[in-house]
Amino acid sequence: MKGTLLRSEGVVLRYVNYGEADRIVSVFTAPWGITKGFARSARSSRKRFGAALEPFTQALFYWRQGRGELWTLQEADLMTSRSGLRSDLDRLALAGYGVELVELLAADAADHQRIYQLLCSYLDYLEAGGDHAVARLLFELRLVYLLGYIPHLLHCSECLKIFANEPVRFDSRRGGSLCRDCAGANDLEVGLGSIGSLARSLRISHQQFEGFRLGATTIRDGHMLLSQVLRQILPREPNSLKFLARLGARES
Ligand SMILES: [Zn+2]
Repeated sequence: MKGTLLRSEGVVLRYVNYGEADRIVSVFTAPWGITKGFARSARSSRKRFGAALEPFTQALFYWRQGRGELWTLQEADLMTSRSGLRSDLDRLALAGYGVELVELLAADAADHQRIYQLLCSYLDYLEAGGDHAVARLLFELRLVYLLGYIPHLLHCSECLKIFANEPVRFDSRRGGSLCRDCAGANDLEVGLGSIGSLARSLRISHQQFEGFRLGATTIRDGHMLLSQVLRQILPREPNSLKFLARLGARES
């Protein structure tokens, strides 16, 4: 395979500048997931890459496979730069959070294609001015699902009892939802309606963000529950989360 020119669609997660003129770019590609490319002269000559190496940009990338993990990025044909994400600080922060979650969690994921589609749909929805809380909740929930970490929702993780009109507790370390008998004193309390809405939203295409209405309680419960799941599976706290929290504090 060495030396063969490979082509893939991808989204830029981030880059670091290298030396005087080069750049190392992390791209999430549909066929291979996270792929790192050495882009020679990316900064000194914009002819080959143009604006295609900026975060959130979607492009067709041409690669030469190297010996190690770092491939050579030969060329890129821009598909969309999503520059609209940069016109609003909250949107930009959420987009940054999305790509960082993918980078931290999806390195060994099996389902690259669907994670790629999810990331593109999430960024498109944010750029189009979609609801921020809905975007974040659906993105986190679907990513967790596609990675195989979705907790038990509609029944108790311990005794498997199906919930009916009762308060639900939640502890991701014990598998998810818990009934009152199985729950511990400190477990989160979440509404059965919220749990039902989250479960229902998983039956809809992972690429659909437009047209979702999630109530304030579902947003609040979903946020609590997913924060717990993500804390458990993330290797470290995402840097973008601190930025998001600062923006949230600014609003309140
Ligand atoms: Zn139980």
